[in-house]
Amino acid sequence: MQPLPNFQYLEPETIHEAAKLLMDSGTQSMVISGGTDMLPSMRQGIFSPDVVISLQAIPHLRDVEWDDTEGLKIGPLATLRSLETNAEILQHFPVIAEAAHAVGSPQLREMATVGGNICLDTRCYYYNQSENWQACDQECLKLGGETCKAAPSGRAKKCFAVFSADLAPVLVALDARITLLSARGERHVDLREFYTGDGAAPHVKAPDEILTSVLVPKQMAGIFGVYQKYRIRNSIDYPIAGVALTLRLNGPDKSAKKLVKDVCLVISGVASKPLVVKKIPPLLNGKALDDALIEEAALLAKKAALPLANTGGERAHRKQMIYEFTKKAFEQAINNGSQIS
Ligand SMILES: Cc1cc2nc3c(=O)[nH]c(=O)nc-3n(C[C@H](O)[C@H](O)[C@H](O)COP(=O)(O)OP(=O)(O)OC[C@H]3O[C@@H](n4cnc5c(N)ncnc54)[C@H](O)[C@@H]3O)c2cc1C
Repeated sequence: MQPLPNFQYLEPETIHEAAKLLMDSGTQSMVISGGTDMLPSMRQGIFSPDVVISLQAIPHLRDVEWDDTEGLKIGPLATLRSLETNAEILQHFPVIAEAAHAVGSPQLREMATVGGNICLDTRCYYYNQSENWQACDQECLKLGGETCKAAPSGRAKKCFAVFSADLAPVLVALDARITLLSARGERHVDLREFYTGDGAAPHVKAPDEILTSVLVPKQMAGIFGVYQKYRIRNSIDYPIAGVALTLRLNGPDKSAKKLVKDVCLVISGVASKPLVVKKIPPLLNGKALDDALIEEAALLAKKAALPLANTGGERAHRKQMIYEFTKKAFEQAINNGSQIS
């Protein structure tokens, strides 16, 4: 690790002031929230903004509120630690607390924020390296080189850096919507549409836009959810394979077989974005879960996972973990069936 490069640090007191500063300082400026991902990258020399704009002095950006009309509103500066213990979250969307708890370590979660997790940079063996390491070989595509060194051919013009956030896949499965604000105005984006699948430009957020809120719709409250994560070190590590499942099991009475409704399966850590497995809802909605269907769903998820050798773990093993986690997630849903409406 090198010392941090020089930069101007600004702490605006309103979100509109922050948006104006971001626009005025141009492409060489970045927003910082907890800094848990951004500062290590700056110390490695991966990027070096001239201006760093902190959101920490802006009031109410940490608020987490339940709104009877709209649903759960999460401020971008809410720390992951605060989500783990928030009463509204534990009541309506316990899977959010579960995913937040899976991130890094307790110290990290005290600093790490929801906004930073959603906007997290993609990761890759060839990208997350020091300047000295980078200087020994041709530049990777994301750092301005010609081709992606992680691509199987080694010659692809597309970046394959991996999406490595834990909370975002769960928020995608919960159909969350985010608000982006810039000096040009405000827009709302479905989180599902936020991610591009291009490791070099992983989301549609323009450089001058700030994520100002997350809404988990009221209709999703009470849905069953589970998040499974595979990482190298259990004590502190990014996911190298992950599965987020949400679904309802509906049935006329407790004795009857319950039918799947509103199912969504998102796999993570195995592509440049959280990947919604689109064939799962047509396969399962309206049907009663049994071993054969769960097996089919797990095989679909495994097929959709295309991990490359650019992060920890062996590729075939990570693919297999997606299969195992998918099965386990559905089994967990069945075991919780009596509590599901
Ligand atoms: C050792 C270690 C282990 C980690 N393990 C995990 C893990 O297991 N799972 C996981 O998900 N993450 C992990 N992380 C990454 C990181 O800690 C978390 O993802 C965290 O939630 C990032 O939030 P932050 O507030 O610190 O983001 P920051 O570092 O402040 O920012 C990250 C990025 O998001 C942008 N950004 C931040 N807030 C906003 C906003 N409101 N609007 C627009 N852009 C914004 C920044 O400009 C930057 O590009 C780990 C990091 C480290 C150092």
